[in-house]
Amino acid sequence: MKKLKGLGVSAGIAFGKAWIWKTSFLTIPGYMIDKSKVEEEIYRLNEAIIEAEKEIAELQENLRDTAGEEYAEIFSFHRFLLRDKFLREETEKIIRNENVSCENALRKVIQKIGKEFGKKGTDFLKDRRRDLLDVVEKIISNLRGTPSGKIKKFKNEIVVAEDLSPTQTLSLDKRYVRGFVTDIGSKTSHTAIIARALEIPAVVGVRIATKEIENGNDLIVDGTEGIIIINPTPSLIEKYKKKKEEEIKLKRKFNLLKKLPSITKDKERIILHANIEFPEEVTTVKKYGADGIGLFRTEYLYLNRKDLPSEEEQFLAYKSVLEKMEGKTVIIRTIDIGGDKFISHFPAPRELNPFLGWRGIRFCLERKDIFETQIKAILRAAYHGDLKVMFPMVSTVSEVIEAKKFIDEVKEILKKEGKEFNPDIEIGIMIEIPSAALLSEELSKHVDFFSIGSNDLIQYTLAVDRINEKIAHLYQPCHPSVLKLIKITIENAKKNGIWVGICGEMASIPEIACLLIGMGVDELSMAPIAIPAVKEKIRKVEKKKLTEIADKVFEFKSHNEVFNYLKRKLKQEGI
Ligand code: PEP
Ligand code: MG
Repeated sequence: MKKLKGLGVSAGIAFGKAWIWKTSFLTIPGYMIDKSKVEEEIYRLNEAIIEAEKEIAELQENLRDTAGEEYAEIFSFHRFLLRDKFLREETEKIIRNENVSCENALRKVIQKIGKEFGKKGTDFLKDRRRDLLDVVEKIISNLRGTPSGKIKKFKNEIVVAEDLSPTQTLSLDKRYVRGFVTDIGSKTSHTAIIARALEIPAVVGVRIATKEIENGNDLIVDGTEGIIIINPTPSLIEKYKKKKEEEIKLKRKFNLLKKLPSITKDKERIILHANIEFPEEVTTVKKYGADGIGLFRTEYLYLNRKDLPSEEEQFLAYKSVLEKMEGKTVIIRTIDIGGDKFISHFPAPRELNPFLGWRGIRFCLERKDIFETQIKAILRAAYHGDLKVMFPMVSTVSEVIEAKKFIDEVKEILKKEGKEFNPDIEIGIMIEIPSAALLSEELSKHVDFFSIGSNDLIQYTLAVDRINEKIAHLYQPCHPSVLKLIKITIENAKKNGIWVGICGEMASIPEIACLLIGMGVDELSMAPIAIPAVKEKIRKVEKKKLTEIADKVFEFKSHNEVFNYLKRKLKQEGI
């Protein structure tokens, strides 16, 4: 028995035998060809490209049916590469000039482009290189008459690979593939997104999976915890079987909950919103029955690319999210660049303390050119539905005044340009810096709503870097100081008649969600998958009871005391 740890990117437990998928097309032997055979070879290449295009179009179509248009979009760049003359012409040139086979020529193209991309080295180019490799692999497998993904008939196996391209992930037949494990990859890679859409448990970024796991090993994949167990003992198999049964039961229950409103026993409506990073996540948002989107982290539209998203591109992205949400609220947060997120090609200065640096609204107020494009797109999209906007990283009142004034200026520009927009868009701010919480009385006079960003509020209140594992034990959502700032914010919001929500991770912990409701928040926004468990608790309890519980919380002096108290009290209430 051996345990490996990675990043759980698609929840669920899977049992099966390991099947190592080697993507060895770069080592496929090429060969020299006779000059007289050059045209024949080029014909072979073109046929393989046409076939690859057909296959990818088919995969795209299937994905459109099973997961939706947003996921299918992932393959648009693949199809573009296959239709574009660049790949075809470069390969043809090498076949003609060097008298080599298609396989040889394609390998050379990849090497050449790899070097180019390597020199520039941005995430955008790395991703595009991955797409190109994916496409070339398809072509080569067609040249060899073994279309990729059809190489093997799966029988309840777990695919283990160094990396899986989106095409490979998709060509796995969901009926037979139990899960997958890769050495590299991240939560936001396209492959991870597809895995979640198809609901195949997946753990990525294991680094040593292909070294440690052998073909035929018995595996358990825990995509929720990011754990892989090789050749598990009978007692572990038993343990995970129980866990899987629990998950299945929970899934059924959550499915039923989806259609029920988020309302307490004494009929108080609590809005449950979802946090998203990519427009394609709307499918998941709807699946888990969110009332709307409480935080759309738009900076992801700016990452992994070589240029800035245009007004039109952003307008279409925001509008499509709004339309897919079918009349429900969507709250867009203006870009929160800085901290640990940077625009790939943007020469941001190196800072010693980036989380205390040129971030969020500070960046936007200085780079008004970038800000203007986004605000224009937001105002225009807001014409098509209930779209609200909020600013991140507000630390002073003057920032809010300046940002609002700027929105007014942008409205004038849009008017002159004759574009349709919503002049009455609701404007909110994130309360995620202690100074903003302490100034919330004044701030509430300038905005329509507050959304508490507890992820940052905790780090700034407790001086605990949110991404530093070494001090993770000090990162405490129920630390009385954090709760005090939240309380002040809620009270000041109510005093001035604006609503207040919370969109940090702590809102997704059911016990803490109950406390926050008791403290008076009107809206909770969280990862879509967390919604059912929170909704279940809300429906079982009276708001009145939660207020009573919350009123006593300041008697406790530490996170642990508060959390234990919450657990005890909620248990007494039978939830
Ligand atoms: C927060 O800080 O709580 C928040 C929701 O924003 P982010 O996690 O994107 O900083
Ligand atoms: Mg934040």
